[in-house]
Amino acid sequence: MALFLLFIFGTLIGSFLNVVILRLPKGENLGGRSYCTHCRHTLSFWDLFPILSFIFLRGRCRYCQTRISLRYFIIEFCTGLLFAASLWLVWPTNLIEVILLIKYCLFAAVLLAVFVIDWEHFLILDQIVFPSLAAIIVLNFCLDLLAHRLPNILGGNFISGLLAAVALALPFFSIWYFSKGQWMGFGDVKLALLLGAALGLGKTLVGFLLAAILGGLVSSLLLIFSNKTMKSKLPFGTFLSAGSLIALFYGDILLRWYLRLLGF
Ligand SMILES: [Zn+2]
Repeated sequence: MALFLLFIFGTLIGSFLNVVILRLPKGENLGGRSYCTHCRHTLSFWDLFPILSFIFLRGRCRYCQTRISLRYFIIEFCTGLLFAASLWLVWPTNLIEVILLIKYCLFAAVLLAVFVIDWEHFLILDQIVFPSLAAIIVLNFCLDLLAHRLPNILGGNFISGLLAAVALALPFFSIWYFSKGQWMGFGDVKLALLLGAALGLGKTLVGFLLAAILGGLVSSLLLIFSNKTMKSKLPFGTFLSAGSLIALFYGDILLRWYLRLLGF
């Protein structure tokens, strides 16, 4: 029941993410009623119900019958799943774990938005990264404060998050700086700060490794099966988000497995 409720709540957030993904890259503001991107008709309350509206309207705009992209549905559904998965993983029994759950849901939602926007526009937006970074740092601080682990450098979230943020952003910054933005955009450097702060050093490294593997796989597939060349740009933020999402949920397991592999 709780899983289902959080799934529904997730689809509502997913509906908001759709607006963010659609409007922010175009520089539009987030206020104002939603409208059909084809006929620009303002949508009513009943058109905006996550998932259900899409099913009942059979994926078409009520006013102009234009097909609505399936991705709205997919993003709402995925956000719901991510929220339910976060609850499944954390299953809070006290205030600390409730805050942890909020952190998981927030971070997962942000990663989903970054994933799609970078894929579509090759953009990692400051309006998304910086508020999320601030929120994550505050949540980390609350987590440690409640658990009396604030001064704890390695076991805590707050300080280790900040250290991880800098530790990951520095190499990214060097790559960006010395390649003059050719191999990596400055957006990736800022995203690295967020990933480090949210995941801590261990899981961030897992996420980064996964991102490199995913990026390598996808670019080889593109090289083989499409007319992309080695010079074609790839949205690294998309792979970083995907890798970090996996690291968020499976980071501990993967890290343990990897350390064992190395003989620790
Ligand atoms: Zn329409």
